[in-house]
Amino acid sequence: MSEEDCVAICSGGLDSTVMLYWLLSQAKKPIVISFDYGQKHKKELECIKKTCEELGLRHHIIKLDLAPILQKSALIDPNKELPHEHYTDETQKITVVPNRNMVMLSIAIACAENEEIQEVYYSPHANDEAIYPDCREEFVLAMSTASYLATYTHVVVIAPFVKMYKKDLVALGHRLGVPFENTWSCYEGKEKACGLCATCQERIEAFKENGLVDPIPYEIDIDW
Ligand SMILES: [Zn+2]
Repeated sequence: MSEEDCVAICSGGLDSTVMLYWLLSQAKKPIVISFDYGQKHKKELECIKKTCEELGLRHHIIKLDLAPILQKSALIDPNKELPHEHYTDETQKITVVPNRNMVMLSIAIACAENEEIQEVYYSPHANDEAIYPDCREEFVLAMSTASYLATYTHVVVIAPFVKMYKKDLVALGHRLGVPFENTWSCYEGKEKACGLCATCQERIEAFKENGLVDPIPYEIDIDW
């Protein structure tokens, strides 16, 4: 049996890094799983690797060569421009990676069963609900039921932030001392965050709503 007691899917983005620190604050011992699925923003993987090294956590990056079958997503196809509208806009559908969370959860559940662990955590939040079906509470419950039925060890799926907003996660992360400078949200695979894509906009707003300054570098001037 594993010395860890849960599996946490962490991308290296703000939400999942806050979740990781929150799990540790709850005295949980996670195995961290990240996915390299051909996303343009691979910088997030460097962030989570560093975070796990600093926290002394077991970390696996699972490589999924999904690009040949998922070229509809602007997160993957280098020829597709990322939209600069707000998250709630219809144009954001191009940023959906088809069935991404179910694919990742299935693998995390397999890891959990292999380790005789019964909990898998991931970090969708209320802002994701509008555009991403696999970030909604009914999906979490259905996936958890399917996982429970599919495994000998009755693995359940837990999304602790599903009813919280991004601004709440920034507040929580701030309280927990999350090193936000070592998290990455921007969908563009550049050196600095673009400040214009939906995830940049959402992140900037969440910091502003908390009266905080985001420590990561942006390509454009942000009026904090
Ligand atoms: Zn961006």
